[in-house]
Amino acid sequence: MATTPLAHSPQPDHPVYVIGGGPGGLAVAAALRERGVRAVVLEKSDAVGASWRAHYDRLRLHTTRRLSALPGLKIPRSFGRWVARADVVRYLEKYAEKHELEIVTGVEVFRVERSEADWVLHATGGRRLVGSAVVVATGFNHTPRLPEWPGRDTYEGELSHARTYRNPEPYAGKDVLVVGIGNTGAEIAADLADGGAKRVRLAVRTVPHIVKRTTAGWPAQRTGILVRRLPRALVDRMGAAMARVGTPDLSAYGLPRPDTGLATRMREGAVPVQDVGLIAAVRAGKVEIVGAVEAFEGGEVILADGTRITPDTVIAATGYRRALEPLVGHLDVLDDRGRPVVHGARCPREAPGLYFSGFTNPISGMLRELAIDAERIARRIARSGAHGRKGRGRRT
Ligand SMILES: Cc1cc2nc3c(=O)[nH]c(=O)nc-3n(C[C@H](O)[C@H](O)[C@H](O)COP(=O)(O)OP(=O)(O)OC[C@H]3O[C@@H](n4cnc5c(N)ncnc54)[C@H](O)[C@@H]3O)c2cc1C
Repeated sequence: MATTPLAHSPQPDHPVYVIGGGPGGLAVAAALRERGVRAVVLEKSDAVGASWRAHYDRLRLHTTRRLSALPGLKIPRSFGRWVARADVVRYLEKYAEKHELEIVTGVEVFRVERSEADWVLHATGGRRLVGSAVVVATGFNHTPRLPEWPGRDTYEGELSHARTYRNPEPYAGKDVLVVGIGNTGAEIAADLADGGAKRVRLAVRTVPHIVKRTTAGWPAQRTGILVRRLPRALVDRMGAAMARVGTPDLSAYGLPRPDTGLATRMREGAVPVQDVGLIAAVRAGKVEIVGAVEAFEGGEVILADGTRITPDTVIAATGYRRALEPLVGHLDVLDDRGRPVVHGARCPREAPGLYFSGFTNPISGMLRELAIDAERIARRIARSGAHGRKGRGRRT
């Protein structure tokens, strides 16, 4: 869709509203403030970084500390190269404080509407907030996605989504089926295997590309950045060559090498799995690879090859939805997958002054991308004249 960002003539008296107090929203707000534009962050939970507060305990960034920092504040060296989840939260808190961001917590935005040159946000408590521009930063991983498996709703066993997984303790001695081999499913399976589960099976529909987080000290993320703009076919070939050298063949364990290239998969929305323990766990027989889940029946799980199994509990690491439809779906700014038609400094043609951050999943690392987009969005808004009066930083 074409874009016309400069056609937007915002009212200077109104602030720019940023919806979401995760890294994406905070970065945009800081970049706006840096340019003298008043930005108010609306966060539905009671603190910044809500997603990171809720992630599982053992999670660390798989992108490097240096390449994950947001504009205007380095991540402290003391946090190490692979920053732990709790330190990401500390960093985000510090980030909001350092930039004196104006953040209103406990306010959820339900709907965004155009009103002449401005934007009206309908939010918690009947609030009707008028902004000169709006940045939607509500997160790529917004709402847990649980496939409509036949028999799911009458399944007699335990079924949960990976979002509620924190650590292996509740699963000690249990037979667990993890569904989905994305980064989350792969790490949860390894975590369970390390943490005392009796048996761990990992249900796989499509074999993923598995990459090492570093090779001889060189992080996979840096390769991702270097190859990002290269032709897809070339990156596919490079990925296959690197996998042959760097990743063991796990065919004997049910994980053959993928027959579609890495960049081709990325284009389809499948990010490679960074190995943080899965390969070792699979080779040690501590995680068994099984076929995809097809259905549930009574207390049984039916797999793609017809096998019926009865795990004690099923954890679905089956991803998330953007869930942008109620917020902005009526503005004709989403594609058929529910993703914004534009991101970064571009606005949809029908919606000048409406920006999106954080709805792509690049091989170069999303935090890095959020940081780049934040600067671009802020620059564009500052240039287009959306200069709400800059207030002193205030957090509520
Ligand atoms: C398990 C996991 C590991 C990841 N690891 C990495 C990594 O190592 N490196 C990397 O670069 N990226 C990583 N990512 C991807 C990405 O960087 C993070 O998901 C990051 O948190 C995205 O930031 P965000 O601000 O776009 O979204 P979020 O962090 O999800 O923040 C969105 C915020 O918006 C709030 N919100 C949502 N809807 C509303 C509403 N309607 N009104 C008000 N507030 C609302 C939410 O409460 C939340 O605080 C990871 C993602 C996941 C899920």
